[in-house]
Amino acid sequence: MIIRSAEFEISAVRPNQWPEGGLPEFAFIGRSNVGKSTLLNRLLGRKNLARTSGQPGKTRQINFFAINKLFRFVDLPGYGYAAVSKTQRAQFAEMIDKYLTEREPLVRIVQLVDIRHEPSKDDISVHEGLRGLDVPLMVIATKMDKISKSKVDSHVKVIRKALQTDVQIYPVSAENRVGLDVIWERFENDMAP
Ligand code: GDP
Repeated sequence: MIIRSAEFEISAVRPNQWPEGGLPEFAFIGRSNVGKSTLLNRLLGRKNLARTSGQPGKTRQINFFAINKLFRFVDLPGYGYAAVSKTQRAQFAEMIDKYLTEREPLVRIVQLVDIRHEPSKDDISVHEGLRGLDVPLMVIATKMDKISKSKVDSHVKVIRKALQTDVQIYPVSAENRVGLDVIWERFENDMAP
């Protein structure tokens, strides 16, 4: 995919702020600090479009980006951040849930997990919820460069088992730009007529 334009549109806190128009949307969700912003920036070849969270959990809105005026990346708030109150958590959960269940142009959900660790309780329950939706789902296992190549397959197996899932799991390293082409191929397929 050649990225001709990548524009930040809006940080939405309410559904009436979601951008209009029927561009297909790819939504990204993951625990704070999983490497979501880094991956988005790498996929788009931009240095700092999605803000990397020096302070995890700080990004609490739904961020919309228009790419090539053809499709959108939607950056959902990171979950599992301990310093957030229960009420706030419930508010994010409700907002995310509303987006995922009601947003008509949503063509794919991408859940990110850290390839180094067994999925957390939050990862597992989020995955279960996402599988119950009628939207194609995939998992990206981030920070592949942090483990040795020979361990990648076994870590992917551990993730698959914990999530109890048969969706595809793609190991990537945003740091080393490994695995990104396959992701783009999938996205292009999702948009194919
Ligand atoms: P977010 O909270 O999910 O948006 O996470 P960030 O993108 O801010 O990344 C969290 C931390 O992980 C940062 O210190 C990143 O530099 C680091 N990180 C992200 N992706 C990778 C990767 O592919 N490899 C390595 N080694 N570190 C990464």
